[in-house]
Amino acid sequence: MRFWIVCFISIVALWGAEGYNGKSLILTLPSPSGVVVTADKNISVLSHPLDKMKGIAIIPIDYYAPESEQNLTWIAPGQEMNITLDIHSATYPTEVLSVDPSKVTPPPEVLERIELERTQAYAIYNHFTPIRYWNKPFIRPIDSITTSAYGSARTYNDTLKSYHGGIDFRALTPTPIQAANDGIVVLAQERYYSGGTIIIDHGEGLYSCYFHLSRFDVKVGDYVTQGQAIALSGASGRITGPHLHFGIMVHGVQTDPLDLMEQIDHLFVTQKEQ
Ligand SMILES: [Zn+2]
Repeated sequence: MRFWIVCFISIVALWGAEGYNGKSLILTLPSPSGVVVTADKNISVLSHPLDKMKGIAIIPIDYYAPESEQNLTWIAPGQEMNITLDIHSATYPTEVLSVDPSKVTPPPEVLERIELERTQAYAIYNHFTPIRYWNKPFIRPIDSITTSAYGSARTYNDTLKSYHGGIDFRALTPTPIQAANDGIVVLAQERYYSGGTIIIDHGEGLYSCYFHLSRFDVKVGDYVTQGQAIALSGASGRITGPHLHFGIMVHGVQTDPLDLMEQIDHLFVTQKEQ
């Protein structure tokens, strides 16, 4: 006996979307299923926080992504949609910083440690936990002014060129730091560049990071709630002075945390309120 499997694929529409390097793009989709296929990864479609019949895909655009046109495809059972993503260049400031020379040219004996810490961090960031802990908009981890924006093109001690992968808040040591949203603590450790470091898994590919801390008030495996005091700020790691560095990772990519928080805020606003 022969079985014929007939698969009906409907091309829903051809969409156009715009994005910027270092920012995130949140697509709203007709159903909460499937994946969005990008040039280098498959991004799981999540349920819309206010309308469980709709889907969202949070697509991080790498800081180094060139101006280009990319083709994305949403693939779900019985449905397929092609989306053209136009990536534009965002404008970021430049910064010149002076830090301890050992944090620019590390001594040979710490190179292995640095590589291990980097590998460990990216293994965490690339892990997708299929549970939503972020059931509300994110909040800032400290009530303070920002001293350095995400994306600044940085030169350390006239030699090392890099970019700022998060946002810095003014924080005299020791200031209590709060969790930006509910989640599970997946790292609480002293690290070479980021100093006292906490990473929280908010589920569905979202992680928040808190660097240069002087004390941990939580440990790995703890469930934390939004606003909970998790640590005290400090001046550990590669720094020019005491502050809090705060970052958000989206599917393994460090994107502008304030931009993402604003877009997530928007998801929680009903159409009536808009
Ligand atoms: Zn920073």
